Amino acid sequence: MTDQDPHTEHTRKDDKHKASMQKQKAKVDARIAEAKTERGIALLLTGNGKGKSSSAFGMVMRALGYGQRVGVVQFIKGAQLSGEELYLRDHCPQVHFYQMGTGFTWNTQDRSGDISAAEQTWAEAEALLKNPDVALVVLDELTYMIAYQYLDEQRILQAIQNRPSAQSVVVTGRGGGSALQDIMDTVSDVKDVKHAFRAGIKARQGVDY
Ligand code: ATP
Ligand code: MG
Repeated sequence: MTDQDPHTEHTRKDDKHKASMQKQKAKVDARIAEAKTERGIALLLTGNGKGKSSSAFGMVMRALGYGQRVGVVQFIKGAQLSGEELYLRDHCPQVHFYQMGTGFTWNTQDRSGDISAAEQTWAEAEALLKNPDVALVVLDELTYMIAYQYLDEQRILQAIQNRPSAQSVVVTGRGGGSALQDIMDTVSDVKDVKHAFRAGIKARQGVDY
């Protein structure tokens, strides 16, 4: 048998793969063993790419799968109800869902009206962030409330930091500022590589909303 024998070559590749996987497993196991802190996570999903809110709702699914209690507060309401919103409203009475009553701020063009709606919506968020029975709180599009200065940044940061230790919180939206980033445990910046909308493709049910 020569080295060119396909069977020998196959075995050699298998052995190499196994050795490499063993090395990788040892590394991963060591890193897992290093993570010893058991507490809820503060997560920021930001950036200009698509996938922030839908990712947050993916986490809602994960939490619900384990029978956890979930709160979702949406700070900006589009003209169209999103599929997640319809589903949670109709099929998930265990999810505390609250949506700011106003539309996009560039549609309402009413700063003082927006601010009072933001305050009212924040009160819902604050109550969830004090409730230890709630395992996951999603604050969808909250960053815009900071960017437009509709809500006090310090108040938001403190509520997130003082939440029950086992509770996780997910904030979505573009921007949000460095102070918010600083207090979060995980920050993902979703990059806009391309978006169908710019090729003239209309937003689709079940994909975009
Ligand atoms: P999704 O809810 O789909 O996860 P998102 O939360 O990351 O998106 P938002 O800024 O909240 O993004 O905007 C939501 C809507 O805008 C969706 O319909 C989405 O497809 C669209 N959108 C997101 N990013 C872009 C983009 N870069 N260009 C055009 N449209 C976008
Ligand atoms: Mg979003």
